[in-house]
Amino acid sequence: MTDGRGETPRRTGMTEKCGVVGVSLDGRNAARPLYYALYALQHRGQESAGIVTHDGFQQHSHVEMGLVGDAFGEDDLDTLNGAAGIGHVRYPTAGSVDSSCAQPFSVSFKSGSLGLSHNGNLVNADEIRDELAAAGHAFTSDGDTEVIAHDLARNLLEEDLVRAVKHTMGRIHGSYSLTISHDDTILGVRDPQGNRPLCIGELEDGYILASESAAIDTLDGELVRDVRPGELVVLQDDGEGFDSYQLVEQENTAHCFFEHVYFARPDSVIDDTLVYEARRSLGRKLWEESGVETDVVMPVPDSGRAFAAGYADAASETTADGESRAADDDGVEFAEGLMKNRYVGRTFIMPTQDERERAVRLKLNPIKSTIEGKTVTVIDDSIVRGTTSTQLVQLLKDCGAEEVHVRIGAPAIVAPCYMGIDMATREELIAAGRSTDEIRDAIDADSLAYLSTDAVADVLEEDRIDLCLGCVTGEYPYDIEGEETDRDVSRPDVGGTRLPADD
Ligand code: SF4
Repeated sequence: MTDGRGETPRRTGMTEKCGVVGVSLDGRNAARPLYYALYALQHRGQESAGIVTHDGFQQHSHVEMGLVGDAFGEDDLDTLNGAAGIGHVRYPTAGSVDSSCAQPFSVSFKSGSLGLSHNGNLVNADEIRDELAAAGHAFTSDGDTEVIAHDLARNLLEEDLVRAVKHTMGRIHGSYSLTISHDDTILGVRDPQGNRPLCIGELEDGYILASESAAIDTLDGELVRDVRPGELVVLQDDGEGFDSYQLVEQENTAHCFFEHVYFARPDSVIDDTLVYEARRSLGRKLWEESGVETDVVMPVPDSGRAFAAGYADAASETTADGESRAADDDGVEFAEGLMKNRYVGRTFIMPTQDERERAVRLKLNPIKSTIEGKTVTVIDDSIVRGTTSTQLVQLLKDCGAEEVHVRIGAPAIVAPCYMGIDMATREELIAAGRSTDEIRDAIDADSLAYLSTDAVADVLEEDRIDLCLGCVTGEYPYDIEGEETDRDVSRPDVGGTRLPADD
């Protein structure tokens, strides 16, 4: 659920930071396909949008604050020459909205021109920045993407492209899916644990790398496969194919399970799973684990819709006790009892407490006849700070609901994310340090249940250890200062990790 609390202006809920794309085509300009792909990835970042292309002689860049549709005009696209390029949509986390952090980051070094689009977050960027700054590198932003660019540029002075990327991967620690342009060569890199998604698609006249397969669909392309964790993909500049280099092998992955639950488009396929189907299956599990017999089941639109459909589906087959339903038992009615105002975005700003409290009324309007005199189960994908849940329960009760039961299609969020999701601080999270019963009381619901982490792993057909569950367990798959890890990981020793020259 998206909600806000506190005194300073803020955006609501959890927000994915970025979407990335890269294309290499056979002769045709890349700018327009990149532009359409960014449209398809707009849900992953709404603060800035940018494209960098290369025409074989020089690099062209256009990066603007704002939505994709506002950031580019016809003239801008016309100046972005070249059949190879990368793009980016961004949602910055740290307070200020700063154009120096908008991407793609582009720069020209002695080793050629580089453009970088990054989704994720490094946890050792400061150490590398300090080391590079001491060696004379001047930084123009405080973003971790520029750190990667400088490190790569330094390596490219001495090594070929593949080895340079491998050495940079040996030094950076954290989550990253990158699309990179090195002159007119387009690369895709996914961190060794594959935390954020990145996939490869085939177009009529070339290849594409994108955060989500929905961007490939938009260009009438075919999803080829996900980029593997630790893999470098180099698109061939004639648009004929791509080369793959498995640069780092790691025993376990750390896929962000929230991509499936919350961030990705339901029509995207991530790590071989259609997001919509995953959400439906999570909803089914939710019924199996904590179903409650009520008159009506309704989603919080749009985030809870697929979960609620799966939940109601399972509820039509079995009772809350797991028994098969009798032929004359219709089970639980699925209804759309909450209408969403589509003109209130996912990231609207609510400057005052009073306005924040009004937020739920701005976004959701209940259909009284569906609710009045009924017992209601309302289903969503998450509770972050809890303000919206509280208001929603109140709203339903004001509409005459006799009971309001809340079911959440993911485990409770108890800790922040350090891997590129703008979530909340521990102090702001309603579930941090509270039991489910205490949260139920806080939001004034008749009952509350979350899905278990085992159910998530089961539905995503992954071992728990191959998922990042940091925000729901407080144990992370990366070495983060002051936090626990759930596996044997440690940061690279940045000062001394240059691999042997023949590696
Ligand atoms: S901490 Fe949570 S949101 Fe962040 S990467 Fe891990 S699972 Fe995803």
